[in-house]
Amino acid sequence: MNYNFAEIEAKWQKLWREKGTFRAAADGKKPKYYCLEMFPYPSGSGLHVGHLKNYVPTDAFCRFKSMQGFNVLHPMGWDAFGQPAENEAIRLGRNPRAMVPEYAATYRETLIKAGCSYDWEREINSSLPEYYKWTQWIFLLLHHKGLAYRATAPINWCPACKTGLANEEVKDGRCWRCDSAVEKKPMPQWFFRITDYADRLLADLEKLDWSEGVKEMQRDWIGRSEGGRGRFRRRRRRCPYPRLHHPARHPVRRHLHAPGPGTSAGQADHRP
Ligand SMILES: [Zn+2]
Repeated sequence: MNYNFAEIEAKWQKLWREKGTFRAAADGKKPKYYCLEMFPYPSGSGLHVGHLKNYVPTDAFCRFKSMQGFNVLHPMGWDAFGQPAENEAIRLGRNPRAMVPEYAATYRETLIKAGCSYDWEREINSSLPEYYKWTQWIFLLLHHKGLAYRATAPINWCPACKTGLANEEVKDGRCWRCDSAVEKKPMPQWFFRITDYADRLLADLEKLDWSEGVKEMQRDWIGRSEGGRGRFRRRRRRCPYPRLHHPARHPVRRHLHAPGPGTSAGQADHRP
């Protein structure tokens, strides 16, 4: 079969854009369906096929829900206010304020070419003030309620990169980027008292229609979040998802955007 990708796909993508096919507008008659995928980190010059392995199945599912008559809200954005983008900026010696929008534009273009059904009018960039003012608002609310607190705790520290590393960025005790030996360095950090909700989180996991393997990872994560105060589970499972340089490797992720420059909220609670 001779399928002219360039011609056929460009034709339909142009039509979708002109007609606003994927725009989610208020519609009292249709039932709502909200499909939220994890947003990519703008930490490399482009997306790769591993990203599409995450975004294409959900895209197909959104179209399925649309055809079932749902008013589907399917947004996209950039998880741009964390270590991956910061490290890339350090690597290039660039200001992330200039680099992130460039990367985001390339990612957007790639996802449009892939034909994903996003409502681009709802695109967010977590490093822009109009987004993170809400992160700050939530943080202050938690702080006033005594659910956010500051404490010193060790983090994985790469002396060469001069950054903290998430657990999955440490391979056999060495930095994944530069292979230096990783140190444990005490750092003042912000913590959230997720422990206050651990029992409820664990109980409510049972209500979710997820595979047992994914639930088990969540149980481990919730248990681990209690750190040194007990309920620390030693058993770890191998992640059944491909090891991509991408947030999509874990189906559910809780990450905390630092409320301001220089803080490292959520560091110690970073996912495995
Ligand atoms: Zn390093």
